[in-house]
Amino acid sequence: MPLYRFSCVDCGGFDQSFSMSTVPAAVECPACEAPSRRGFAVAGLLNTGSQAARLIEATTRTASEPAVVGAPIGRGGAPVTRNPLHRKLPRP
Ligand SMILES: [Zn+2]
Repeated sequence: MPLYRFSCVDCGGFDQSFSMSTVPAAVECPACEAPSRRGFAVAGLLNTGSQAARLIEATTRTASEPAVVGAPIGRGGAPVTRNPLHRKLPRP
């Protein structure tokens, strides 16, 4: 079941797990029991461990922490693509 992010006005955000068909628009805050509205977040969906989730996490990570490379990709190393049609594309 995915995690949903709720936000309490006094205590801040917290996560609770619901099935996608039963998730309410608001729940009680576990700390102060005040009604807390559901927010929008993708954090719960990324914890599924699937290949797509790992790809999304890796893409998100490279946006803030780009990997350091020693040479441009595709020059001197493994080819970027093996599709023969890509050889016809213009080179920079
Ligand atoms: Zn609260």
